[in-house]
Amino acid sequence: MRMPGKMLPKIVGFVFKKPATVLYPKERLTPPKDLRGKMKFHKDRCISCGACARDCPSGACTMQPKSDGKKRPEFDLDFCTFCAQCAESCPKDAIEMTAEFELAHYRRGEAVVKE
Ligand code: SF4
Ligand code: SF4
Repeated sequence: MRMPGKMLPKIVGFVFKKPATVLYPKERLTPPKDLRGKMKFHKDRCISCGACARDCPSGACTMQPKSDGKKRPEFDLDFCTFCAQCAESCPKDAIEMTAEFELAHYRRGEAVVKE
């Protein structure tokens, strides 16, 4: 067993140390620059090639028919693993991973990224 006398300086040191955590959500840390959060879809760049949906490992990205007769992707974040493969596969940079990570929602289907 360690002697309290040896531990005491360390314990006292922790009392005066700045906390490692913040009072979220009142206080927020800046997310890392490369964080893969919610994606942003740039409809104007999309050529409806379907590469994003083809390469999505979880089936979160699917091609859906749109009013102009073309198919474009939709991203169901309930299934998304935020791997960014869709953005990687897109030949037109139409999918951008953002640092938005607060994605809590009440019902299934409420977190779908579409145009
Ligand atoms: S980030 Fe990954 S899991 Fe999510 S939609 Fe894109 S490819 Fe699919
Ligand atoms: S890979 Fe890019 S261009 Fe092709 S359908 Fe997906 S978003 Fe559109």
